[in-house]
Amino acid sequence: MISQRMKNLHPYVPGEQPKDRVYIKLNANENPYPPSPKVVDAVVHAVKNHPEKLGLYPDPDSNELKSAIADMLNKCGGVLCRADLSGGKKNGSGAEVSPSKADKIPFSVTPDMIYCGNGSDEVLSFVFYAFFDSDRDLILPEHTYSFYPVYGGFYSIPLDKVPLNSDWTLNKELMVAKASEKKTCTIFANPNAPTSLGLTRDEVRDMIKKSPADKIFVVDEAYVDFGGESCIPLLSEFENLVIVRTFSKSLCGAGQRLGYIVANPKLVEAVTTVKNSLNHFPIDFVAQTSGIAACRDVGYYVKCAQNVAFERDEFIDFLRSKGWFVLDSQTNFIFCRKDGVSGESAYKKIKESGILVRHFATPGIEDYIRITVGTHEQMKALRAVMNDL
Ligand SMILES: *Cc1c(COP(=O)(O)O)cnc(C)c1O
Repeated sequence: MISQRMKNLHPYVPGEQPKDRVYIKLNANENPYPPSPKVVDAVVHAVKNHPEKLGLYPDPDSNELKSAIADMLNKCGGVLCRADLSGGKKNGSGAEVSPSKADKIPFSVTPDMIYCGNGSDEVLSFVFYAFFDSDRDLILPEHTYSFYPVYGGFYSIPLDKVPLNSDWTLNKELMVAKASEKKTCTIFANPNAPTSLGLTRDEVRDMIKKSPADKIFVVDEAYVDFGGESCIPLLSEFENLVIVRTFSKSLCGAGQRLGYIVANPKLVEAVTTVKNSLNHFPIDFVAQTSGIAACRDVGYYVKCAQNVAFERDEFIDFLRSKGWFVLDSQTNFIFCRKDGVSGESAYKKIKESGILVRHFATPGIEDYIRITVGTHEQMKALRAVMNDL
């Protein structure tokens, strides 16, 4: 009774969200901090004073939100944890934000370069539909965000998964060689998941230069705010570059379901056409309100990203001192393993102590666990557990 095309579906399995017990959740790379108090105020105010808006369709194109995102990117340079703050409260709220020298975008990001959707997962699915054809392979790393292969199946896009180097870095040379030979598109996360390693902007520039100029090159920057290098500055050099970003990690907003792309306006138009053919109103009024308020209080999120980066580096030092092998991380998570402890048994023992981390049974990474960086208190609790592993 089900369609032929259902056979291609292999749904994504998210980190567990158990109801049986209250766990410390370090398994889905959510941000441990609440949104800015200004976001809470904006949502409460909007719903209280404009209840009629809950009964009306929202702006289908989220124009005010797009402007707010563009302003935020220009202010922080696209990497929150390195941005400079002046004034504001202790938690960063209300501070003036300026980009670090290394991150300053050499042009102004404008709202027509932004497409905004219901979480970057939805945005990614529209990107797959808009740009990747089913008559040629899409190039991606063997280990990367596991939703990409799911969409490959959904849209019948064949995949060419390129193995990582033995040090877990992307095999840039092979990816580029394959993209050129097959005259096709490329996608990866930078920094990558679940490896937490990033490429520099120069390395990505070099890859794009050597890949087909008429095929789309997608860089997913879900984690870049915690210490990577953003490729937004490359948008003035490449018309085929699409950068995907999300509110779920660095903007403490996984529950709001907001994601976006930054790209050439022609590509934004193409994705908008897909949106208008599937779901005209992907972002509800409340989410638009909260997203706008978040972008306008970016200082608060700079502080959150800095706190996460600090806790991450402390925890990596701790794990290494205990004999764990830990990859360097430019993200809000830690990818690690220890000789003599299987990934699964580490995951289980940590879970018994009331803390959830992520274990992937995927061949090649099954020895590892992925730990989302939480608050100082959460990491202290995890430290006590892992001390004895
Ligand atoms: C978390 C994540 C996403 C999805 O983010 P949402 O906006 O919550 O859908 C996309 N890409 C990568 C690499 C991620 O880790």
